[in-house]
Amino acid sequence: MLQKEKEIGLKTVSAAMAMAAAIQNDLTGRETLTKSDRSPVTIADFASQALVCKALGSHFPGMPIVGEEDSLAIRRPENRGVLAKIVHYLQRYDPDMEEALICDLIDMGGDEPDGTFWTLDPIDGTKGFLRGEQFAIALALVSGGQVQLGILGCPNLRSSAGGTLFWAIRGKGSWKIAAGGGIAERVRASALTDTKEMKFVESYESSHSDKDTQLGISRRLNISSPPEQMDSQVKYGIVAQGTADIYLRIPNPASPDYREKIWDHAAGSLIVEEAGGRVSDIDGKKLDFSRGKTLAGNRGILATNGAVHDRVLEIIAELAGRK
Ligand code: AMP
Ligand code: MG
Repeated sequence: MLQKEKEIGLKTVSAAMAMAAAIQNDLTGRETLTKSDRSPVTIADFASQALVCKALGSHFPGMPIVGEEDSLAIRRPENRGVLAKIVHYLQRYDPDMEEALICDLIDMGGDEPDGTFWTLDPIDGTKGFLRGEQFAIALALVSGGQVQLGILGCPNLRSSAGGTLFWAIRGKGSWKIAAGGGIAERVRASALTDTKEMKFVESYESSHSDKDTQLGISRRLNISSPPEQMDSQVKYGIVAQGTADIYLRIPNPASPDYREKIWDHAAGSLIVEEAGGRVSDIDGKKLDFSRGKTLAGNRGILATNGAVHDRVLEIIAELAGRK
């Protein structure tokens, strides 16, 4: 089951990884890039969504795609230069990629989540992308409110050149492969039980979570190394492969109404669960992917190796009770 979805998904995410890495390399390394210039990530975001939607649309016609981007901005005349760069990168992979087709492909990702659908974050961790650091391409197939297939491309998570590509099918375990090719390896969460030795990861961006509370929790767990900051769903990847043990995302009190987006968690959460880890929100509730484009019924995220999960939930509940 889901073999064709997996094969096509891996192929297209792998192409999108290579293309995004090339854009990151060509454009963000330039000294002329000003801090407010988001055009490299804009180019990578749109090009990645067009590439993946083309593959999904031709192999799975009619299957809805819920993607993060739409083509409104790049159809504007003042953004003609950005669109020309998108064309330039996409034509390396596919000579049919012209302006009008690219815009239409991007808009294939404009479906509403319902029943069985794909969800795509074409560049997750855009701020990390711009800093030349971690980012991911995340594709998942959701059905009946549950993630059935998750694919996570991490171009800068290097065990080899080209980065790491993770995937999981519900009930079939988690796997990874070096993006440049190689042999698929089973991925397993760590077996650590001594919290002192555990590695704690959180978002790099301070506004995306509550770092003070997270630091307090890591201290309560007696974790000896300080929390490590990292962008994107690469955090789920490293929990799944056992090089980190706890990924915690407590909502930032400055944005109490923010709800997590489904494309930011669908692929990564299944990859951790199928690796033997656990994923819930910070109240211990399962992530509910049946509520539209956001996880409207959940607050925050906790992904762990499993062993430490209940202990972290307990501490979160204790701290909440004290407030
Ligand atoms: P990360 O690098 O793990 O922080 O994840 C990046 C994602 O954080 C982006 O794709 C955004 O969708 C999401 N994000 C943006 N604002 C917030 C916020 N206030 N709280 C939590 N996540 C956010
Ligand atoms: Mg994202």
